[in-house]
Amino acid sequence: MKQPIGPEDILRKKREYLIPCVYHFYTAPPQIVRGELQYLYDHTGKRYLDCFAGVSVVNCGHCHPDIVAALGAQAATLQHTSSVYLTQPVVDLAEALASVAPGRLRKSFFCASGSEANEGAALLAALATGRSEYISLRHALHGRTKLGMSLTGLAMWRTDASPVGGISFAPSPYCYRCPFDSRPDVCDLACADAVETIIKTTTSGQVAAMFAEPIQGNGGIITPPSGYFRRVKEILDHYGVLLVVDEVQTGFGRTGRMFAIEHYGVEPDVMTMAKALANGAPVGAFITRDEFAARFTRPSASTLGGNPVTAAAALATLEVIARDDLTGRAAALGGRLKAGLRALQERHPLIGDVRGLGLMLGAELVRADKSPATAETDAVLEKMKDRGFLVGKNGLHRNVLAFQPPLVISREDVDALLAALDDVLG
Ligand code: PMP
Repeated sequence: MKQPIGPEDILRKKREYLIPCVYHFYTAPPQIVRGELQYLYDHTGKRYLDCFAGVSVVNCGHCHPDIVAALGAQAATLQHTSSVYLTQPVVDLAEALASVAPGRLRKSFFCASGSEANEGAALLAALATGRSEYISLRHALHGRTKLGMSLTGLAMWRTDASPVGGISFAPSPYCYRCPFDSRPDVCDLACADAVETIIKTTTSGQVAAMFAEPIQGNGGIITPPSGYFRRVKEILDHYGVLLVVDEVQTGFGRTGRMFAIEHYGVEPDVMTMAKALANGAPVGAFITRDEFAARFTRPSASTLGGNPVTAAAALATLEVIARDDLTGRAAALGGRLKAGLRALQERHPLIGDVRGLGLMLGAELVRADKSPATAETDAVLEKMKDRGFLVGKNGLHRNVLAFQPPLVISREDVDALLAALDDVLG
């Protein structure tokens, strides 16, 4: 292995050779050189508990030996052909995905990222319905491409000042800052009903699809109330609008179910995936029902999509998740972490809200007047890093601590994380 050059030289090269839109966490960032399951190591040998998993990617842990073995064996045998030649890993993966996806979702298309998966899903929805308008949610993030960015409801990620037209935004189901000033105990799901008003007022009435993350990741782990998706789906069905559920960040055991939408008892018409599907090998996919897939017959090809190496990595990932019951582990350890965060909330008024499911948890940091504690969030992140814990950060005001560790973390890791956070908040 190459001798690490250290963070200063990395920052220098980054300034010199990377387009400056690529940003990083921390005032004093370490150089990460090695990963082993839930732990990362920097150039000095210091160990960190990874509480962000490369933004919800390495659900099975860094360099999981079974996944590395499958990936290496495939890379040494046949690395790439493109989809114009027949290979087996991609069809085995499609079969495996059909067996874990909710309801009638059965036919997949593979690409190389989450943004591409959402682009493809939008095209599929247009072909399946003969319509071209979309609904998305405020605080959503669906990608970095022209359309993905236009479906995104966070100004920070909408760099393009001439977005795609025909997209209407519905209020986010953000209970802590309810767009209708309601409270959970008296909530009548006005945010879900707003979808109908939007179809009737800001669209032609002919909408192809609504995009939604089951939990809004970049939006700040915004977790819709339990009846939200059922009500939304009734409305969409009434108007012939497809529901595209973006499981890019929430999928593959993360929330204590294989897919987060399962918590809401709703069957999506299309589901998009990426990130954790191959535990770090670049992959994206969308999956749909037979009748919608049947409308998508004109050629579409993603050169690297589902290539033998990423497909082999994804198959091994699905095996590890099932064999080691990482979904059950996420539910159990997520429960422990959430209870611990709630206990910290009682002692530390900086924590305004604790939310999320399984091991996709957020703690929104606020000042006494409930205004976003953005600078404090950065300070907490930096101090946690110095203590050996890499916590994530997101939200419209970048004031939500994100806890999305590899699902292989232990009880001891959770307890150590809570103890360090207690200390730092104090
Ligand atoms: N959808 C969601 C919910 C995401 O969180 C992201 C990335 N953070 C994307 C789509 C885009 O995925 P990618 O970066 O792989 O293009």
